[in-house]
Order: sequence, then C-alpha cells, then structure tokens
Amino acid sequence: MDLTIEKANLDSTPAFVIDENRLIKNLSDLVELKRQSGCQVLYSMKALPFGMVLKLAKKYLDGLSVSSLFEARLAKEILGDTGHIHISTPGLRDDEFNQVIELCSHISFNSICQYQRLAGFATNRCAVGLRLNPKLSFTNDSRFDPCRLYSKLGIDIDSLGSIMDKIEGLHFHTVFSTTDYIPLVETVALLKHKLGDKLSQLKWLNLGGGYLYSQIQNHQPFIDLVKQLKVAYDLEVYIEPGKAIVGDAGYLVTSVIDCFTSDGKTIVVLDTSVNHNPEIFEYQRKPELLEANGEGKYSCLLVGSSCLAGDLFGEYQFESMPKLGDRLVFPNVGAYSLIKANRFNGYNLPDIYKIDTENNLKLIKQNNYLNYREQWT
Ligand SMILES: *Cc1c(COP(=O)(O)O)cnc(C)c1O
Repeated sequence: MDLTIEKANLDSTPAFVIDENRLIKNLSDLVELKRQSGCQVLYSMKALPFGMVLKLAKKYLDGLSVSSLFEARLAKEILGDTGHIHISTPGLRDDEFNQVIELCSHISFNSICQYQRLAGFATNRCAVGLRLNPKLSFTNDSRFDPCRLYSKLGIDIDSLGSIMDKIEGLHFHTVFSTTDYIPLVETVALLKHKLGDKLSQLKWLNLGGGYLYSQIQNHQPFIDLVKQLKVAYDLEVYIEPGKAIVGDAGYLVTSVIDCFTSDGKTIVVLDTSVNHNPEIFEYQRKPELLEANGEGKYSCLLVGSSCLAGDLFGEYQFESMPKLGDRLVFPNVGAYSLIKANRFNGYNLPDIYKIDTENNLKLIKQNNYLNYREQWT
C-alpha cells in the first residue's frame, strides 16, 4: 500500500485509516503460529474495538479477550455462539457479575478477594481461573510493568495456596510491545519451578498479550514452549494479542492548518491533537511521522490544535518545510489511539477510512456535530 498516494484521495482529515491488508497479514501470521504450536489465539479487543476488526478477528482466530461488561457484550454480539470470550479485570463489579458470566467462556479473577466474593456465583458455562502475578519484571518503567511493587494486577504467585486446587486455569500478562520470547520463556520457567505438577490439575493457561508476533523472526522458542506445556501438563494454551494485530494497521492522516514562528522556531499546526492519540501526551512519546526525514534541512515543531500548551507532537526534520494544506501521516497508531480519542475543545473525532483488499479507499464512519451534542446534552 502506498499511503502517500492514497492520502491524496482522502476527502477529509483528520482521518484514521485502517489498512485491511495489513490486518489480514497480522492475523495470518497468527494463524500460522497456531498451526505450528497448537495454541489458541484471542484478539484483545481493547486495542481497537472497531466492528470490522472484530469481524476479521472472528474469521481468523478463536475468540476475543475483554476487560469489561461493554466489551463482553460487543464481543458476544460479534461472535454469537462461536469462539471464546476471556475476561480478566481489576474492575469486576458485583452488580454486573451475572451478566458478565453469561457472556464470557473464561474468567480469570484478579484478586483473592474478587475470587472469594464471586467465584461461587459462576455458572458451569464459564470456566474459572485466576490472573497470576509472576513478580518477574522485564521493564524499568513501572508505568508499564504489571509486576511492579504494589501491583494491582493479578495474585502474587507465592500466595496462591490451596486455591490452586479449585480452579481450572491461570492467566498472566506481564509485558508490552515485546519483540523476542525471552520474557515468556523465563516466566513459564518460573511457573514450572513454583507450581510444578500443580499445573497438570489445570485445563488451560492464558499467556496474555504484549508480544508483537509479526516482528519476531524466530518463533521456535514459542512453538517449543506451547508444545511442551501441552504435552507435559495437558493444557489448552491461549494467547491474547492486541497491538500485534492492529498496531501497524492504523494511520492518522492530518492536514497542516496554520504555520508561524514562535521564539524563532517554526510552528506547524495540525488539524488533529494529542486528544486523538492521548498516549503521546500521557507517556510523552514522539510519534513516528512518514514524511519526516532526520537528515532534512528544515525543522519545525508539529503541534495539535487544542488549547493545551503541551499539546505537541514534537520537533521534526523535513526536506522541505510543511506548508498550509499539506497532509502528514502518523503510522503505527492502530492500537490504543482511537479507543482513547476524545472530543476535547469540541474538535470532532477523526473520520474512519479503510483501505480494502483491492486497495480501494472507503469512508466507513464519520462523526459530526450531532454526535458531539448527543454526548453532552
Ligand atoms: C492489554 C492487554 C492485552 C493486550 O496487550 P497488547 O500489548 O496490546 O498485546 C492482553 N491481555 C491483557 C490482560 C491486557 O491487559
């Protein structure tokens, strides 16, 4: 796909463009991994719960992984009676529990208190498990580390005790955007060491998400690990990637709407803002930009159109200075961008386009003033 050509045909910006070919490539890579390892794959829909993505995931994968009642409801609507729905969340509410277990096939309780309060109400249609916290960190940034000190995510592996004898499965999820299998291999080794034969009492093990499968060259460690878990403990093994499926299938196309200098620096205002991709601000990241060229002679600050002084994308270099009306493309924004986008300052959400398998660009969803009004009146 040549987005630099395609973007010229977009009727409107800001636009969120979903590349269907890339989605299918990512899903097909996972199907191949399923075939070679025998694992089951769920799409973690929180990354981008867009209908067309869920329907594609349904076609290729074994189900969806959800974190709330609303996600579970949408997942069930899409999947019908085919496929699994796994849930695990610190936010499980007593007053929603009956609905949640009607919709989900597997639940991994996040704490012992949650388990003790609610497991007794689970029907036999919903398999009961626990989210485990292996307490094995792979990052120094505690904001992204489920194994951080005082973690709210999962039950400490050393305090499982006799609950192990009452459950059917375990779940863990401990990494983010990882491109090798070292953390997975080390974590499973720790589980074997600490839980040993108790693992064969279980029916399933969910290894979570956080790996960018299509960017990993050698899948042999994963294949060996899954096969070994299946042979040694007779386990059904699940993975639940989110970003691996949608991350590089999403683009944000924006137009330059103003240029001026401020304290000697060129400021280029875009018709988008960090509110269309809040992680840029939350984590103070500088997003990739297709048109930028680190060797370019022209430098400017790309800024968002909101009232926040810190609504900045960052300083970029170009071969020629962006000018009014130019279009710029942020790639790799398929995951955790649109789902977190908001209408702060009254700016519309991006229009959503897809590039279909025949390379046609199609508008698939547009928001307008009435959507804004409906939210606030
Ligand atoms: C967010 C999340 C995932 C998906 O993570 P990615 O980094 O998008 O692959 C899977 N499982 C759990 C429990 C999660 O919280």
